[in-house]
Amino acid sequence: MEEQKTGTRVGKVYLVGAGPGDPGLITVRGRYLLEKAEVVVYDYLASAKLLKFVPREATFIYAGKRGGMKHTHSQDEINQMLVDHARAGKIVVRLKGGDPFIFGRGGEELEKLAEHGIPFEVVPGVTSATAAATYAGIPITHREYTATVAFLTGHEDPAKSTSNIDWKKIATGAGTVIVYMGIKNLPVIVRRMVDNGRDPKTPVAVVRWASTPEQRSVVGTLETIVEIVQEAGIKPPALIVIGEVVNLKNTIDWYEKRPLFGKRIIVTRTREQASELVAGLEEAGAGCYECSTINIKPVDSYEILDGEFERLNEFHWILFTSLNGVKYFFERLYAKGLDARDLKGPSIGAVGTSTADLLLKYGVNADLIPPRFTGGGLAESLLDQGVEGRNILIPRAKAAREILPETLRGAGAQVTVAPVYQNEQPQGRKDELRAELESGQIDMVTFTSSSTVKHFLTMVGANDQEELLELMAGVKVAAIGPITAKTVSDSGLDVDVQPETYTIPEMVRAIVAYYQG
Ligand code: SAH
Repeated sequence: MEEQKTGTRVGKVYLVGAGPGDPGLITVRGRYLLEKAEVVVYDYLASAKLLKFVPREATFIYAGKRGGMKHTHSQDEINQMLVDHARAGKIVVRLKGGDPFIFGRGGEELEKLAEHGIPFEVVPGVTSATAAATYAGIPITHREYTATVAFLTGHEDPAKSTSNIDWKKIATGAGTVIVYMGIKNLPVIVRRMVDNGRDPKTPVAVVRWASTPEQRSVVGTLETIVEIVQEAGIKPPALIVIGEVVNLKNTIDWYEKRPLFGKRIIVTRTREQASELVAGLEEAGAGCYECSTINIKPVDSYEILDGEFERLNEFHWILFTSLNGVKYFFERLYAKGLDARDLKGPSIGAVGTSTADLLLKYGVNADLIPPRFTGGGLAESLLDQGVEGRNILIPRAKAAREILPETLRGAGAQVTVAPVYQNEQPQGRKDELRAELESGQIDMVTFTSSSTVKHFLTMVGANDQEELLELMAGVKVAAIGPITAKTVSDSGLDVDVQPETYTIPEMVRAIVAYYQG
């Protein structure tokens, strides 16, 4: 009412299901709304990885709600926040784990909004019960086993004499029974099932952190599962799947059988780089912790390159030694009103296939890719062709190894090095990185350039060699090529994995092969 009087816009609350954990399992609609959000209120179970879709300038509010722990905000406070932000005219996304209407109190929050006349919309999500079963390799219905499924909460106080759950009907009435929030009460749940007529030999699976790299599952029967869960130390959040369909797990188990399942890998990379490595490793089942060790930014002055743009046709060769070299060279070329047509004169060399692939995206087909994907390899290949008296331009990082220009100059070439980008170490994340290493749960660190090694070591901030080795104890190291590997060994660490060809897909393959033994 008030808003209408003053003419201000009334906001809207979008109650969005975040899905079970894997950020890829949010709906297209849910992601679209996150991208539009001005305020996002999120729960413990909603994957933090989804927050990267929310505009930076939005207000982020953590609502807490960790089962059994102190809630960060009471339900009343959350309801009030939603009302207040919507009244202030904001687009509010209320992000909840799984599906908002399945044991998520979504109904209660909307009742409150309705009471205050706040407009709202609901976006369903993949609920954790179906995800946990699916990601544990269990089809929750199957023509040969069952045509019925029941979802229950196991959160009821076991001391309560009257239950909201009609165990007599459920125990034998539903073929598959899936219990949310049931880990604490597992002994009571299995007893109720058996006491009410379910066969004690009925198979049961318990799945923790389904659809995330931390997923763990165990299998037993109504008779044995309590002990198995206790021994495995399975804690919430977990789901209990009861029913004959659990027998199919062995056959259908696709997720936990991926080659890097259960491995935690730190991927050091530059913030701007495409996450090809992360995507490849995750596809193979690994959990990646992305550690941005370098920021790439344009150089302060493009004086050298701009000067050379005037006489591009006088060059015999332009050599690209990195993806960023290509990217920043073309950005500047375009900024000056030029394009690929102005590169008609010189031949083009690329240090490796990835660089050549990127060049092609800018409309240029590389004339030379050396068999060895390093600056040294590129120099060798050029020397084979003879470079005496040749004019060569190398657009590259401000700080880079001199081997390529020096070798070429030594062979009589006229070499111009034009810095087109520079590396800068990002602030923050240092403590997080150390905590990850100290947790002892990291299996591997990957390096894709010498700079990532150097910046990683600075970020880890070990006081001496001993401390570094202690932090890296049990952590394997993968390096993309010999130069990166040398920088690793110079620091006193061993290199465990190195692909034969220095590309990201080959690196992923080498890591998979390493763990498959
Ligand atoms: N609205 C949510 C459920 C919230 S109740 C949904 O639709 O999934 C919280 C319970 O959900 C947890 O106690 C646990 O039993 C289950 N749960 C949520 N995410 C889970 C996950 N990734 N793996 C296993 N169980 C999960």
